[in-house]
Amino acid sequence: MLKSEALDVQKVRSDFPILLRKVHGKRLVYLDNAATTQKPRQVIDALVDYYSRINSNVHRSVHTLGEEATAAYEGSREKVARFVGAGPRELVFVRGTTEASNLVRFAWGEKFVRKGDTVVTTIMEHHSNIVPWQLLARRVGANLKFVGLLRDGTLDLDEFDAALKEAPSLVAVTHCSNVLGTINDVRSICSKARTAGATTFVDGAQAVPHMPVNVAEIGCDFYAFSGHKMLGPTGIGALVGRKDLLAAMEPFQGGGEMIREVFLDHATWNDVPYKFEAGTVNIADSIGLGAAVDYLTAIGMDRVRSHEMRLVKYSLETLAGVKGLTHFGPTDPSRKGGVISFNLADVHPHDLATILDDDGVAVRAGHHCAQPLMNWLGVAATCRASFHVYNSTDDVDALKSSLERARGIFRA
Ligand code: PMP
Repeated sequence: MLKSEALDVQKVRSDFPILLRKVHGKRLVYLDNAATTQKPRQVIDALVDYYSRINSNVHRSVHTLGEEATAAYEGSREKVARFVGAGPRELVFVRGTTEASNLVRFAWGEKFVRKGDTVVTTIMEHHSNIVPWQLLARRVGANLKFVGLLRDGTLDLDEFDAALKEAPSLVAVTHCSNVLGTINDVRSICSKARTAGATTFVDGAQAVPHMPVNVAEIGCDFYAFSGHKMLGPTGIGALVGRKDLLAAMEPFQGGGEMIREVFLDHATWNDVPYKFEAGTVNIADSIGLGAAVDYLTAIGMDRVRSHEMRLVKYSLETLAGVKGLTHFGPTDPSRKGGVISFNLADVHPHDLATILDDDGVAVRAGHHCAQPLMNWLGVAATCRASFHVYNSTDDVDALKSSLERARGIFRA
């Protein structure tokens, strides 16, 4: 299959065993991919193979299993790093995006952010790119500044430029909003932030799974993402960091493997990235993430992105025909990830999601861990349909007909 060809959704779907199951007797229409994605057989098989054949601890044992497990773990690090344009020594395995921002908060923030400094973030962030900086600001006495949005759900770049005049020590911004789907021009944002002297942290949780990402081209200092949102297992993700920054940082957690030598009164640290991987690491899931990267690479991230852009365009056109539906976020598919947030008249999103579930349609309802953004939108919650490679226009049609049924029930 040439990478310029459209994605063969039926072929892709046959790789995902869970898509065969029924929900309330109906075909599962899984549209909650921004929360977590389903796993292809290739990822599940990699986990089973690891536990069936080579399970052993890494970096410790000279026996065959130990060496094979280490090779598989480090091989996966290389693969995942290459996938985002980084080198293996720049990639720290973590539990996910949340752990990555907390790592930066403790290991970089507490050393380099000082009393009176400014930390800049935006109101479209997930809580994992807000709360760690609130905690940091409170701990060191820094000020946290939020950049607002324009009416179309894109970042107010004038406000961003104004915030940079305060010479912030950190700019933390999402690559793609998990609610609005807004894709931020992180390359330009990081370039301006660096000129202003700031260190940059990019939340890539909703970008790496859905579009080609190259951290070197973006020019950020830190970039974070989660394996479970990119067809990989839960409990594994990555923090990519500039080598010199990682080397200058304090450790995150203390324990085995992150040390070079331990004395009674002090210890010295292992090289990067091991300095940040204390204790027994998540070997199986890192290998599973490597398998997910293989799977996505075989499809081609350009093709994943074009597929989702087509679904976004089709959804916006299709759902525009549902009376009483309000959509939140940009409407230009080229500036929007595969995320459609909406409300239906005054129906509570949880009630709506329950009706959709009766029809086998899985969407997320709630604040999506983005309460400052909900406040800006003037709503307590939204429903959100989000796509990945196994979704098709049939899924969007199923969503529409379930919404029409809900309209009838609620007389919306
Ligand atoms: N950032 C964004 C934009 C997200 O969508 C999410 C997950 N919803 C996170 C961060 C947090 O990711 P995780 O729960 O995997 O740590």
